Amino acid sequence: MAAIKTIGVLTSGGDAPGMNAAIRAVTRSAIYNGFKVKGIYRGYKGLVEDEIVDFKAHNVSNIIHHGGTILKTARCKEFMTVEGRRRAYENIQRHGIDALVVIGGDGSLSGARQFASEYDLPIVGLPGTIDNDLSGTDHTIGYDTALNTIMWCVDRIRDTASSHERLFFIEVMGRESGFLALNGAIATGAEAAIIPEISTEVDQLSELIESGFRHSKTSSIVLVAESPITGGAMGLAERVHKEYPQYDVRVTILGHLQRGGSPTAQDRILASRMGAAAIDALLEGQRNIMIGDDDERIVYVPFTKAIRRDKPIDRDLLDLLRRLSI
Ligand code: ADP
Repeated sequence: MAAIKTIGVLTSGGDAPGMNAAIRAVTRSAIYNGFKVKGIYRGYKGLVEDEIVDFKAHNVSNIIHHGGTILKTARCKEFMTVEGRRRAYENIQRHGIDALVVIGGDGSLSGARQFASEYDLPIVGLPGTIDNDLSGTDHTIGYDTALNTIMWCVDRIRDTASSHERLFFIEVMGRESGFLALNGAIATGAEAAIIPEISTEVDQLSELIESGFRHSKTSSIVLVAESPITGGAMGLAERVHKEYPQYDVRVTILGHLQRGGSPTAQDRILASRMGAAAIDALLEGQRNIMIGDDDERIVYVPFTKAIRRDKPIDRDLLDLLRRLSI
């Protein structure tokens, strides 16, 4: 393998707060170690369509506190094709890029794995997603900020909920995973969390209502992971109308609110550590790995493991939620 001189960096898929801190850390750490850096706009789309520019240390000034991503992000159908990836590789060669750092979720890392299997290019991934659903890392960049945003929103809904004696379903993100719903429920003192991991095991709605729910309470808040598996907040509200019409049910969908905002200290620090670790990994000759954190330590996680979609939720937290909501 030829020595690396120039490193390309891109953000891809759903944006997450802290991506800017990650871009900054990758760029500055690469320059610190004597590499050149190319910023690639709009994820894989910018790679296919040649939106690639030189990045210097000053290009990443004053961005650590901003949500979103200065490199923009996109979804790119062409990159799913052999021809699209060929064009991407031609642009990589044209710009003299000899290693890539991809910041994104499981789709983006699946794309990175596919690309790395076809071309001789070292790629290191950073877990950038609010869902926390990548395996091999305790936390993903953006998760802590999204959790804090959910907490902020639910606290406000609680004020109105307790004035009216209602059942509130609050839908949070998490198509395949209940990390935001479960941890958000604990942080806000919610009654329950309805999450995809448990949906195949029990009917969480009837369990909730039949467990004596609301007996001693003026109002109840339930966090629901937005997922076809749970039925989402709207689907559950429809069921309540039909099956338990005695309840006055309301739905709030937090939606894109959860992606925005200035990253928390925890996300900025995580992104900074992981961004620098990506460059360390390339210096060590690593490739096709995602940077993860395991009990505060940086670890290297093979792409195949990171995207396996088997990250378990902490069942003790479910039990804690049940115990604290009596
Ligand atoms: P996220 O990274 O947030 O999960 P997506 O699932 O939308 O986001 O994936 C982002 C992009 O990654 C897609 O638009 C596509 O360009 C690329 N991608 C995803 N899966 C693959 C794959 N199996 N092969 C090639 N590219 C892929």
